[in-house]
Amino acid sequence: MSDTDPAETAETDADETPAVIAPGGTIGIFGGGQLGRMTALAAAELGYRVHIYCPEADCPAAQVAAAATTASYDDAGALDAFAEAVDVVTFEFENIPHDSVQRVAATRPVRPGWRALHVSQDRLREKNFLREIGVSTVDYQPVTDEDELASALARIGRPALLKTRRLGYDGKGQAVVRTEADVGDAVAVLGDQPGIVEAFVEYEREISVIAARGIDGAGHTYVPVENQHTNGILDQTLAPARISPDLVMRAEATARHIAEHLDIVGLLAVEMFVMPSGGSRGPGPLLVNELAPRPHNSGHWTIDACATSQFEQFVRAVTGLPLGTTERHSDAVMKNLIGDDVKDWAALAAEPGARLHLYGKAEARPGRKMGHVTRISPREES
Ligand code: AMP
Repeated sequence: MSDTDPAETAETDADETPAVIAPGGTIGIFGGGQLGRMTALAAAELGYRVHIYCPEADCPAAQVAAAATTASYDDAGALDAFAEAVDVVTFEFENIPHDSVQRVAATRPVRPGWRALHVSQDRLREKNFLREIGVSTVDYQPVTDEDELASALARIGRPALLKTRRLGYDGKGQAVVRTEADVGDAVAVLGDQPGIVEAFVEYEREISVIAARGIDGAGHTYVPVENQHTNGILDQTLAPARISPDLVMRAEATARHIAEHLDIVGLLAVEMFVMPSGGSRGPGPLLVNELAPRPHNSGHWTIDACATSQFEQFVRAVTGLPLGTTERHSDAVMKNLIGDDVKDWAALAAEPGARLHLYGKAEARPGRKMGHVTRISPREES
């Protein structure tokens, strides 16, 4: 990428666009899912308008936004009109094509800039970047075909996990290789896409940290939380994570370190594995698994248990407002409502203290995130 690529930097049009976008301004968001929806709700509370850009009509975010564009990400005319209509552009998922980001970045600030997206769009690039900045990850090796898969498995050992480099989420595009018999399935998952083989680690627990960073570089983190998955999809988040104060400090410092190196203006979610002490397949107690430069499912609890939710913090960061405190007033358990779980809405709505959040999705397909419920409890000091 050249030094002059407007998508590279957060501030591209400083002469015309003030760094701070005052309430009343319009935030453009690429992507129209529940993350965009909850961002739009938080933006409205601070007096901002949100304009959603999403290829599907009636997406969850568009239902609550001031304006929406329904167009594909490579529609030049729609991108230009979108840029014209907004004061700043951000995104609620990371697979936005480079050319689309570059096109809007020619006239509007894009926060965070292209680099954060570029790194997090590809698992290999992400892991290489983490290693370059001194952050530990599982052992890994890139693969493009069956022969490379065989040599990666020979070096890394089994069990191993094959993941496609791009467009995998919620356990999609992944295959575990425990025995020789699993190799065929892994080859099928790979297809003709490039992949990455990772050592399959027996972690003690999975945690994540959400770091927020303002336009002045000021950084804040939410307390590390513990994430429990079922079938590769986040089921439950416990806030805070049940880890030692030393690991809390290390996890937060790691998240801040990565956010600084990616020049984040907005949010960065950092998913990590906590290794058992004395674990033999990793270099330290924390291994970073994945990055997301946007609000994250493991931060939904902050709506009900923190002074400033991750969504309000995101709005504050991309508009250039001072960040809010990330302190929590309560402990929380956030449970995702996946697929048919949402059919329990009436009982959940009747449960004293349960905070129900539904995303306005018409069809409850298996594996689809339909909403979440957060239960808070008095904060326990550790
Ligand atoms: P990911 O798409 O990378 O977030 O992976 C989805 C889930 O698979 C993670 O939340 C973990 O539970 C599990 N997982 C991913 N990578 C590994 C690994 N290298 N070793 C063990 N489990 C993993």
